[in-house]
Amino acid sequence: MIKHLINGQQVASETTIPNLNPTTNEVICEIAAGGAAEVAAAVAAAKDAFPKWAGLPAATRARLLRNVGDLINQHVDEIARLESSDTGQSYWRTKKMLVPRAADNFYFFADACQHVDGETYPTSDHLNYTIFQPVGVCGLISPWNVPFMTATWKTAPCLAFGNTAVLKMSELSPLSADRLGQLILEAGIPPGVFNIVHGYGATVGEALVCHPDVRSVSFTGSTATGQHIASVGGLKRYSMELGGKSPNIIFEDADLERALDGAIMSVYGNNGESCTNGTRILVQESIYETFVQRLAERTRKVVVGDPLNEETNVGPMITREHQQKVMRYIQLGIDAGARVVAGGMGLPEGLPDHLKNGNFVRPTVLADVDNSWQVAQEEIFGPVACVIPFKDEAHALAIANDTSYGLASYVWTENGSRALRMARGIEAGLVFVNSQNVRDLRQPFGGIKGSGVGREGGHFSYEAFLEVKNVCMSL
Ligand code: NAD
Repeated sequence: MIKHLINGQQVASETTIPNLNPTTNEVICEIAAGGAAEVAAAVAAAKDAFPKWAGLPAATRARLLRNVGDLINQHVDEIARLESSDTGQSYWRTKKMLVPRAADNFYFFADACQHVDGETYPTSDHLNYTIFQPVGVCGLISPWNVPFMTATWKTAPCLAFGNTAVLKMSELSPLSADRLGQLILEAGIPPGVFNIVHGYGATVGEALVCHPDVRSVSFTGSTATGQHIASVGGLKRYSMELGGKSPNIIFEDADLERALDGAIMSVYGNNGESCTNGTRILVQESIYETFVQRLAERTRKVVVGDPLNEETNVGPMITREHQQKVMRYIQLGIDAGARVVAGGMGLPEGLPDHLKNGNFVRPTVLADVDNSWQVAQEEIFGPVACVIPFKDEAHALAIANDTSYGLASYVWTENGSRALRMARGIEAGLVFVNSQNVRDLRQPFGGIKGSGVGREGGHFSYEAFLEVKNVCMSL
């Protein structure tokens, strides 16, 4: 059984949740299903541990965080296997990119916490100065896609800046974070500084965000859950990393080969289950049909299969329910009048027998989509591209911004002035110009509109994890 980690101890619950492998739908293990009592115990442990942890010199916390990074790097293969069996994400990509990046999160914030500065505002008779101080106990909530990366993205700055944490992973993918809890203890971080409570969102998640001793909530998940949390959690800090429906805009002067590479990565990367995926593909009319045909050709070569195989590009969806949801959207697109140029309904062709019970869908391109349709407005969170034609720059911008979301956006053009105009006009937290989604740990990450509130990354993580205090002294 995957147990809670409370005050350095493994704690079981009477009730459990079966954890299924999305590739086969076989039960991997049972997960302890906590409730308000476990959350209360974990928050109490984090509250007790806070003064001592916050009082350590930043250099001491940094050394312990670096130990965590080292331990993650020593267990890359094991963590990648856990993550892949839990989520259906590519084992190879997780091993090569995501787990090392998770270790980097600890190294990066180990450095960053030693560079937290204040400012001074002198006047003729007073001196003002600011100090940044840790917030206290933080509630960290993660979704099921890329769980290890997300858990470390929150945990590293939270602990580095002197806070203590209670982490709640998605009940669908708790395995890699369970290992993280063990490694954090092994690294020498004192019991109680980092706690994990497993279970459902409506019980554990809600108890955590509503707990009066939880001073800051860093949440990554759907827009609906984010809105709900903000309405029930009361007055505290919220960092909300929510859903997306990002435009991927291809102008007639773009380098088509690079734009196609970008589109393939952006739609099918991470099984299509990624908040920043650019699945609304806007293509200028003059190159529209050529692009659609080439995208369809490339999509037919996307390999669907066992996420443990190196050649696999797209693995199973996280659950049977999610597989059915993605298929429902494909059908909705067809019913609305979309032209299916690759994929479509049904299981992928040629799936071996041992994968037939997995949650696979066909990588699909829906062309001639109107931006007002449900498939263009709602987050599908699967390997489905919606291709939409546009006339000119103004038309592209209008379609790009005609969405309730505002997380990422992608622009492909060789015209520098147009790139700058588009980057300024697009309503999104992230704009990539002639680039796939690349991440620098210093950059602000987050969205606007329905995609969230606040930014994390580099010194932008101060917002979620540090309070600023002004001290005014009479001279
Ligand atoms: P979700 O909102 O269903 O769940 C996210 C987490 O919240 C889970 O741990 C869940 O148990 C918990 N939760 C559910 N109800 C809760 C409640 N009432 N109170 C507190 N916690 C609760 O999302 P999901 O299906 O797990 O993840 C997919 C979503 O996450 C997509 O919308 C995706 O775009 C988004 N996402 C956003 C980012 C980003 O950085 N913006 C990154 C990854 C995923």
